[in-house]
Amino acid sequence: MKTDVVVIGAGAVGCAVARELSKLKLSVVVVDKNEDVGGDASKSNSAIIHTGYDASPGTLESRLVVAANPMYDRISRDLDVPFSRIGAILPAFTDEQFEKLPFLKEKAFDNRVYDVEYLTGEQLLAIEPNLNPEVKGGLYIPRESIIDPFLLVVAYAENAQQNGVNFLLSTKVVDITTAGGKITGVKTDAGDIECDYVVNAAGLYCDEIASYVGKNDYYVNPRKGQFYILDKNTSVKVNHIVLPIPTKLTKGKLMCPTVHGNMLVGPTAEDLDDKTDKSTTAEGLDSIAADVRKLIPGVRLNDTITQYCGLRPNRNPEGLHVDVYDDLYGYVNLSGVRSTGLTASAALGVYVTQTLIRMGMPAEYKTDFIATRKGIPSFHKANDEQKEELIRQNPLYGRVICRCETITEGEIVEAIRRPIPARSIDAIKRRLRAGMGRCHGGFCRPKVIEILARELGVPAEEVLKNQKGSYLVTGRVK
Ligand SMILES: Cc1cc2nc3c(=O)[nH]c(=O)nc-3n(C[C@H](O)[C@H](O)[C@H](O)COP(=O)(O)OP(=O)(O)OC[C@H]3O[C@@H](n4cnc5c(N)ncnc54)[C@H](O)[C@@H]3O)c2cc1C
Repeated sequence: MKTDVVVIGAGAVGCAVARELSKLKLSVVVVDKNEDVGGDASKSNSAIIHTGYDASPGTLESRLVVAANPMYDRISRDLDVPFSRIGAILPAFTDEQFEKLPFLKEKAFDNRVYDVEYLTGEQLLAIEPNLNPEVKGGLYIPRESIIDPFLLVVAYAENAQQNGVNFLLSTKVVDITTAGGKITGVKTDAGDIECDYVVNAAGLYCDEIASYVGKNDYYVNPRKGQFYILDKNTSVKVNHIVLPIPTKLTKGKLMCPTVHGNMLVGPTAEDLDDKTDKSTTAEGLDSIAADVRKLIPGVRLNDTITQYCGLRPNRNPEGLHVDVYDDLYGYVNLSGVRSTGLTASAALGVYVTQTLIRMGMPAEYKTDFIATRKGIPSFHKANDEQKEELIRQNPLYGRVICRCETITEGEIVEAIRRPIPARSIDAIKRRLRAGMGRCHGGFCRPKVIEILARELGVPAEEVLKNQKGSYLVTGRVK
């Protein structure tokens, strides 16, 4: 296979880069070892689109996050991704925390986030009634926002695909080839790809990819973040992203709504060595409970429907880097896209593309670029008239499969037939939320397996939860 550009990694960053590259007359291939687009860290985070108010001023990360935040009004509209500008609050409960507020405001100012406001304790309680009543005052950051992180990545990818980008999934990059100081190709476990440009957007494994071209002057360790997800019906909710005042050691644990109405509580920040350790622990979850009760004393953690964890790619030495090298034409190395990469992805798409153009990559725009992408019509969001129309057009919309989230067979079949098809149970779950409700798949999973088996033309025993080998069914019992 021959192409102009290979992007390694189909997480938020790789897919945003691919979408931006798809505006140009170039051939682009995205390669990912996972069975679906969506990345690793990109599908297990707090889902916040940050403003950059608390970034380290003057860093590339600050520039990217501050630039990216305003881009999401347009991206969410053009790509049909649930997004809400709910705002964040940073309440102070102790004198020590209260005295930090001017410094936090000053940092926001240095990051050019000028709309951060001081609110009194009374004002904060008026907008966030479940807040600890000891609150003395705090900061309000109106443009901190929430998004559906799964659909953001799927939407970047689908739109890139509509514009000609080729996605090679379940394909692992095992080497990069060079000749005369130039990129010549990528070797994968499914064959070789000749190319002139490579973008390393491999997240946690970007150091491994960098080692293939001798550019691994850093290493990456996972920084684990554990979370609780609470039921939509929990009685003690918040309206904003409620953040603790950071300490020297940690940004701390937050509570916020998701775009779908659940409550998210966490995350921890635990440095590990094992890049595959995705376990949640009693110790980690207990620390979340203790910390979040200082913010929202009434939080009802017994309304938890699931717990999960994500691994931040923590670069050593620290810092978000986009590196190019005088002695290696055609190679862009991203590293340290750690805690704000979901947000930064929109700006990184542009930044990486312009970096490649400055390097000498041809830059001719397509006149037929398709800027918008439509998501799968949602049955539960439709009004009665729209529901009738959906069922009239496709009777499978009349069969509810996931009772908790009201997801129909019509939506599941469409997800399987999309240009970037959902081919596993988790891929369906991330696109549609079938199995993400209160029972977490207890009722709908067997039906989802049946539909996947039928549509993919395989026996149920071969339907995967996610990666190769993750079979759930071993055979019939009666
Ligand atoms: C607990 C937690 C909370 C967070 N909260 C937020 C938040 O609220 N807001 C925010 O903006 N950011 C947040 N982040 C950070 C954000 O999630 C990440 O910075 C971002 O998702 C990184 O995206 P990525 O595409 O670089 O990496 P990933 O999503 O990890 O994608 C990398 C991809 O590369 C692929 N890959 C790796 N090696 C190979 C190979 N050899 N061959 C082929 N493919 C390969 C992987 O399979 C993976 O799909 C959080 C992260 C965590 C863990």
